Amino acid sequence: MKVDIKLKDKTLKESGETTGIVFNFQQFSIQDGPGLRTTMFVKGCPLHCPWCSNPESIYPSYQIKAVQDKCRGCGACLKVCKTGALSHNENHQIVLDYSKCNHCLDCIDACNYKAITGVGIRVTVKEAVGELMKDKPFYDNTRGGVTISGGEPLMQPEFVAEVFGELKKNGVHTALDTTGYAKWATVKNVTKDVDLILYDIKHLDSKKHQEVLGVKNEVILENLNKLAGKTKIWLRIPLVPGFNDDLDMADKIVELGRQVKAEKVYFLPLHRWGEHKYSSLGYDGSAFAKIRDFTEEELEKWKDHYKSFSDYVIFGKA
Ligand code: SF4
Ligand code: SF4
Repeated sequence: MKVDIKLKDKTLKESGETTGIVFNFQQFSIQDGPGLRTTMFVKGCPLHCPWCSNPESIYPSYQIKAVQDKCRGCGACLKVCKTGALSHNENHQIVLDYSKCNHCLDCIDACNYKAITGVGIRVTVKEAVGELMKDKPFYDNTRGGVTISGGEPLMQPEFVAEVFGELKKNGVHTALDTTGYAKWATVKNVTKDVDLILYDIKHLDSKKHQEVLGVKNEVILENLNKLAGKTKIWLRIPLVPGFNDDLDMADKIVELGRQVKAEKVYFLPLHRWGEHKYSSLGYDGSAFAKIRDFTEEELEKWKDHYKSFSDYVIFGKA
C-alpha cells in the first residue's frame, strides 16, 4: 500500500509520539557488527564526506530521488514543480537540481512510472522496533542484532535512544554506528542501552578534518575518550586516497584505539558503492569523482604493514 509521506508526517507530529525519520531497514547485514544484523539507517548528518556511500542520509528530512533510467520523458513532473528544480536532458530523461528543490514532494504523485520516489519516512518507535524484531530468530542464531546507522543517529537522539531501549528489553544485541559528533550529554544518553559502538575516526588533524568534512574533530575525540571502558568500541577508519592514506597517522589511530580500550580497529579502503546515487538525488558528485582508487600495490602495502597486528587491526572488511 502506498504511504502518503506528508500525511503520515503531519499525523505523527500531531500525535506527540517520539518519532524518527528513517530511509532504510537493511536486513541480513554482515558489515555492521557481529553476526547477522538488521541495520536501520536514519536521516541527517553533520559531516559532509565527499565519498559518502549513503548520500540519501545527508539531508535530515524527506527528499526525492529521480532515476533517469525509469523516466519516460512524459513531462508531468515538470508541470507540477514550482521551483524549476526538474528539467530534461538531451535524451528527455529527468534531471534534478537539488539546490532548487524545496522538498515539497509534489512531483512524486505526478510520475506514473516511479521514476521519482521519496527518500525517508517518519516512523514511531513502535513501528521501528516492530520492523527490527522481525529477524530476531536470525539474530539469536548468529549472535547478531540491530545496528542503527545513518547519516548520524545522534541527530535523532530521543528516537534512537528509545529504539535501543526497547530492543534491549527484547533481548536484542544493539550497535550504534556513529561519527561521535554530538554533545557529550547526547552521546551518553543514546549509548546507555548500546552493546557496541562502531566509532568512525576519519582524520586526526582538526584543520584537515574541517576542510574536507565541514567540522572540526575535537568533540569527536573528546567523546571517544569519555566512552573508553564504558561500552565495547570498534574503531572504523574509512581510508581515502589523498585524504588520510597516511601510515604514520594510521599507527597513531591504532595507538588511540588501545588507549580507549577499543576491541578492534578496522581500516576500510574507499569503495564507490554509493557514487551512482548522487545524480539521482540531484547532488553534485564531482568531489567524489575526483577521488582516485587505491592501487593494488598500495593495498598490499597496508595489508603488509598490519599483518603482524594479529586480529586487533583488521584491514579491508567491516
Ligand atoms: S520535490 Fe523538489 S523537484 Fe519535486 S516538485 Fe517539489 S520542488 Fe520540485
Ligand atoms: S513524470 Fe516521471 S516519467 Fe514523466 S518526465 Fe517526470 S520523472 Fe520522467
